[in-house]
Amino acid sequence: MVEAIRNVTKMLTGSYSLVILINNELFVVRDPSGIKPLSMGNLDGLTIVASETVAFDVVGAKYVRDVEPGEILHINEEIKSYTLPEDEKPRRAHCMFEYVYFARPDSILDGRSVYNVRLNIGKALAQEFPADADVVMPVPDSAITAAIGYSRESGLGYGEGLIKNRYVGRTFIMPTQTERETSVRLKMNPIKSELEGKSIVLVDDSIVRGTTSRSLVKVLREAGAREIHLRVGCPPIISPCYYGIAMATKKELIASDKEVEEIRKILGVDSLAYLSIESLLDCIGIKNGNLCVGCLTGEYPTPLPNNIAKYEANRC
Ligand code: SF4
Repeated sequence: MVEAIRNVTKMLTGSYSLVILINNELFVVRDPSGIKPLSMGNLDGLTIVASETVAFDVVGAKYVRDVEPGEILHINEEIKSYTLPEDEKPRRAHCMFEYVYFARPDSILDGRSVYNVRLNIGKALAQEFPADADVVMPVPDSAITAAIGYSRESGLGYGEGLIKNRYVGRTFIMPTQTERETSVRLKMNPIKSELEGKSIVLVDDSIVRGTTSRSLVKVLREAGAREIHLRVGCPPIISPCYYGIAMATKKELIASDKEVEEIRKILGVDSLAYLSIESLLDCIGIKNGNLCVGCLTGEYPTPLPNNIAKYEANRC
């Protein structure tokens, strides 16, 4: 089996995590760059694996360690670890977007607390892009921790201007534009008493197409917000993800061909600032060489398919 897995992985490029059950034996594989997280836990002597450590907390299991990039685990009564041949190991490239948005804040990824990374992001935004405002508010839920960090660092009070309907899914991965726009209204309801006449720092984790942000700004203005200073915890996303996150095609990404000032006008905010790539790397605490920042730079850690234009055209 291990040889078969090694042979298969020679044909695979990019991001994958495999869990294979054969005759009551478990084989676990993490791609050689470790693009997506994969960790191992223990529940009453049984070994379990999950993408995020939070899954262990939920079932009362203990986190043991991460599955290493390029590691094959063979789990039955005991655990045996194998690796791919050294010369086939590319560099590590953990997805920065897991820290910024995707992972739950109570997860530990590659030894780092996602919560602490997001607090750092908020603090860095406050240091680099202060604003003369009355209150700091998050775009819930994913930007809550960063907004707390901004509030602590700036000394501005933390407040809630938007309440999230928890029964509507992530808008940026919804298939059509109409669905995305409708779902923003369904998803976020303003609290007028917290917004009327106020100048707010609105903290968001990232901006993909910009349509969600624009709709949210409209909702906040209609609810009486006087000034909106948007601070974004992820540097401008200029290029698609080819590792499993169906963000958008290049031409749909608002930052792929626009400067910050142009985006500010489109979104209708009084000021707009994105965290820089250098600051983001500091906040995560992993060196650039060991992170994937492909969607921020257009430089990816693995070769891309030759027919990338056709691939892009087939995405919605
Ligand atoms: S391209 Fe962006 S979203 Fe995709 S894996 Fe790399 S950092 Fe993550």
